Amino acid sequence: MRHEFTTAAGLPPEPDAAAAGLSPGGACVVRLTDVVKTYKVGSVSVPALNGVGFGIARNSLSMIVGPSGSGKTTLLNIIGCLDTPTSGKLEVNGEDVATLTDNALSDFRARNVGFIFQNFNLIPVLSAFENVEYPLLMLGQKAAQRRSAALEILDAVGLADLRDRRPNELSGGQKQRVAIARALVKKPQFVLADEPTANLDSQNGAAIVALMRQMQVQLQTTFIVSTHDPQLMTHAEETFRIRDGKLVNHVSGGAES
Ligand code: ADP
Ligand code: MG
Repeated sequence: MRHEFTTAAGLPPEPDAAAAGLSPGGACVVRLTDVVKTYKVGSVSVPALNGVGFGIARNSLSMIVGPSGSGKTTLLNIIGCLDTPTSGKLEVNGEDVATLTDNALSDFRARNVGFIFQNFNLIPVLSAFENVEYPLLMLGQKAAQRRSAALEILDAVGLADLRDRRPNELSGGQKQRVAIARALVKKPQFVLADEPTANLDSQNGAAIVALMRQMQVQLQTTFIVSTHDPQLMTHAEETFRIRDGKLVNHVSGGAES
């Protein structure tokens, strides 16, 4: 059953919690309210988000879709607490992140947010295993604990045999699997993936979205994925479409294109 909410004048719809299958409060891992982001470039203001509001259901595969320049990366950076809104509110687990200190925020990010990028962003001099282990090293975990967690997740993404290879000895699809393992190794509350299939062919892209879906179910985590890849969009559980920094449409289920 598809629910569709389209606004007549391109105005952002009210987040419709009941229709989206979210109960207010606890079921949303992330909630944005009237988020505005304006970049300042010298004396020029560049509007990137113009009042965006919606909630992301816990344990969902949610996609943010829209053309290049629509504000997807800006939105993910705000959700990942890498950047702050010019105005508006971001709540994570019902908590307003603006009330957290910088230290609390970076600690939250290190423990609870996984990042996956379009160009993989692996460390070239480290093996697949070492890349996956790295976030746990940053969290101060002991070697034995790091090793077992990294091996377990590399196995889950199908890379146990390739764990000693460096990024330049892996295909694009394999590199993105390493990046998915690296994002998941700390068992984050949510994973942000910014156009994760943009540098992959369609077959590898399909395999990567299938893996994200499998991991989301298996590990009971939330994936928030931005894309303008029509093939990828069909796999979403919740789709938020943005254009010119505004939410124009929200469907439960995948987008058709
Ligand atoms: P998308 O990821 O959908 O392509 P972005 O979030 O990157 O969109 O960009 C949204 C708008 O904000 C665009 O007009 C872009 O040029 C502008 N923008 C993005 N990042 C910056 C920045 N650091 N400084 C100035 N303008 C930016
Ligand atoms: Mg982008």
